[in-house]
Amino acid sequence: MTAAEKARYDTLEAFGFGPNVMRKTAVCGTCGRMADAGAAACPACGGKLPEETLYDCYKRQHACCPACGTVLSPGSRYCPSCGKRVFCFMAGRRRRAGRT
Ligand SMILES: [Zn+2]
Ligand SMILES: [Zn+2]
Repeated sequence: MTAAEKARYDTLEAFGFGPNVMRKTAVCGTCGRMADAGAAACPACGGKLPEETLYDCYKRQHACCPACGTVLSPGSRYCPSCGKRVFCFMAGRRRRAGRT
């Protein structure tokens, strides 16, 4: 990770959007607010929280290292965390989903 990426990462982490935070955050399926993934129900509306954390959602939409699960920036060829060579088959490839 470069210094600029590190700074960005630190900022995101500070604002609550780092992977460590995302793993502990779930999005309420009812009101869409973010809640503690460990909570049984949404503190805002009392709706049921999904099993899936924000991190899981994020991972579904972004390419991730198959070895360690680190989210890769688009175009990455190697995992910045463990150095494994990866293929970005997800990021930037999807143009228009739902052409059925
Ligand atoms: Zn809610
Ligand atoms: Zn990795």
